[in-house]
Amino acid sequence: MHAHCPPPRPRAIIRRQPLPRRGRLARLGDALARHRRSILVLQWAVILVYALLVVLPAWLPIPPAGASMVNNLRLAAQFAFWGLWWPGVILATLLLGRVWCGLLCPEGALAEFASRHGRGRAIPRWLRWRGWPLLAFVATTVYGQLVSVYEYPQAALLVLGGSTVAAVLVGLLYGQGKRVWCRYLCPVSGVFALLARVAPLHFRVDRQAWAGYPGRSPAVDCAPLLNVQQMSGAAQCHACGRCSGHRDAVTLALRSPAQEILASSVRDMARVEAWLLIWGLCGVAIGAFRWSADPWFVLARQAAAAWLAEHEWWWALEANAPWWLLTHYPEVGDSFSWLDGALLLAYISAVALVLGGALQLGAWLAGRLARLPWQVLSAAWVPMAGAGLLVGLTLLTQTQLRAEGLLLPWLNPARGLLLAAGGLFSLWLSARQLARADVPHPRRLAAWCALAAPLALLGLAWWQQLSGF
Ligand code: SF4
Repeated sequence: MHAHCPPPRPRAIIRRQPLPRRGRLARLGDALARHRRSILVLQWAVILVYALLVVLPAWLPIPPAGASMVNNLRLAAQFAFWGLWWPGVILATLLLGRVWCGLLCPEGALAEFASRHGRGRAIPRWLRWRGWPLLAFVATTVYGQLVSVYEYPQAALLVLGGSTVAAVLVGLLYGQGKRVWCRYLCPVSGVFALLARVAPLHFRVDRQAWAGYPGRSPAVDCAPLLNVQQMSGAAQCHACGRCSGHRDAVTLALRSPAQEILASSVRDMARVEAWLLIWGLCGVAIGAFRWSADPWFVLARQAAAAWLAEHEWWWALEANAPWWLLTHYPEVGDSFSWLDGALLLAYISAVALVLGGALQLGAWLAGRLARLPWQVLSAAWVPMAGAGLLVGLTLLTQTQLRAEGLLLPWLNPARGLLLAAGGLFSLWLSARQLARADVPHPRRLAAWCALAAPLALLGLAWWQQLSGF
């Protein structure tokens, strides 16, 4: 060493604080990250079951009169898929976050698999448009009703199989091992992103721990393309667990179901997400759940048919549309005429206009009164919308079980309780959101009333449907 050289500085010794012992939940998250292979096996098993439930029944004959799901595979598959599977997915999303997307969804798994072996092109701008989930949800919901997706497996294969083929094609073209379809285009991803906001389970990111982690670490293989370090909620996270324990900063943890909604900003709840909640989930979806049991629909149909007959517009009363456009199963006497199709569209639009319009007006008014963004305030309606979706899906479960002679007298009170709990939670969330408003108290109260009134209308619509008045 030269005499004039400064002595080397002692190397800084980085002593990391010993990590606190990870709790059971955190270890569960870490296990998801460690057991990728087992999860893959599970996903392929779900793909197989999904194919069985969606593809096979389309080739089975229409069940004869008196058939039961105990002795008829088509009826059994229909019950398993629409009566149990879908309500189960919605319930799981409300309680656990998007575990369905990350761990089980066959479409997501296939899209990711295709993307690993595809062209790997960059994602184009048009595909990143935030309006796709709203458009796709409305289109598939309405189209599903026109072709009776719940009743006929050909229609289910067309709608669900079409969606799966599209997911694989997108996977083959874009991204490298990512779920581009799920992130931007899936018709239910927007709905799941809304519902997961109230899930008490999430992957929590400790940004300080992330930043303070010494050294570099490989990037997280986050299939829905999230910036994990910046992640602040469960809306977009597929809860796959791959990032669990990353940089000692990501942990599966419990949280208050109110946390994410109360922390929402316009970045988390943009207008298009609010429109999906208001017009899609609380409008179009409720219209789709209602039309077949609404006596007003039957009356309107009779009146319209009489008017058409009087004016000799016979073509409108003919049921000659192909099954992929309008329900057409003459062998069981179930075919939609052009009038039926038009009335169905008109009915769903009318329900969406009344309920969605009331909610939109309420949110806008509350936003003006409280000087807060209306779209952020509308997020408080997620619990009520989630309860409504769950209740709506169980209507089909009930119809299927009733056909088997199984009456569930406790179901309606349970639905009422669920809707009441969802509504009360929404009202409480609105009050908490408005507590931040920098306006005089009477304005705050008026804003709360503006948010509560359309919620009451929603409750009334459900009450009317469930009680049959
Ligand atoms: S942030 Fe990404 S990698 Fe982490 S759990 Fe969510 S989806 Fe999986």
